[in-house]
Amino acid sequence: MNDGYIVREIFEPVNMAEIMEGQRSSAAEMRLVGGRLCLDFVNTVDGRKDDSSPLGDKLEDYSDLVAWSRHSGIVTAAEAARLTKESKQKLATANTVLRRAVALREALHRIFKAAMMERVPRSLDLETVNDELLKARKNERLISTNEGFRWEWISGETALDRMLWPVAQSAAEFLSAGDFSRLRECGGEQCGWLFEDTSRNRSRQWCHMQDCGNLAKVRRFRTRLQSSTN
Ligand SMILES: [Zn+2]
Repeated sequence: MNDGYIVREIFEPVNMAEIMEGQRSSAAEMRLVGGRLCLDFVNTVDGRKDDSSPLGDKLEDYSDLVAWSRHSGIVTAAEAARLTKESKQKLATANTVLRRAVALREALHRIFKAAMMERVPRSLDLETVNDELLKARKNERLISTNEGFRWEWISGETALDRMLWPVAQSAAEFLSAGDFSRLRECGGEQCGWLFEDTSRNRSRQWCHMQDCGNLAKVRRFRTRLQSSTN
């Protein structure tokens, strides 16, 4: 899910230890069920139905951000390894990128929630998204392929924030052309994950049936059992 952008596999020696390190992150194991890159990015927080006390943040470290980026297909294995290596030499920059990522994610979460409730988003949040979008757009170029023209992200120099470009782009596309009537919050009691309901009859309730859907079923069953034994 790279929203039409090309992620080129660059064949070069990669450090398997660095890749394995990234794969241990819970960000590399989460379900990508948002239907859009920007929604999967927002879903890197667990249990945030009550926003004041989320249950877990999958982006605790820059390496989590790299792991999530690889998992969601916006960077290649070689790029992930290079970013990991670079981040160890530029710790302060990596931390700044992580802070920017979290700020972008939280701004997007508030904007999407506002959109679902047909409310005007906070201008500060929109500013955060626009700032990231501006940085992203400086790093894209138009290329000619056999199938026509495509956008491509500039490669070469290792930019530690490169994963934020496609996320900002995905958010801009969704905000400018998406159908918010299809934007949903999972019905799970604590979940709070967002997704785009693309089902024909607009009936999707859960981020994933095997997670929140089954939990809700079990809960309903127990409630019925309790009320029948009382
Ligand atoms: Zn859920």
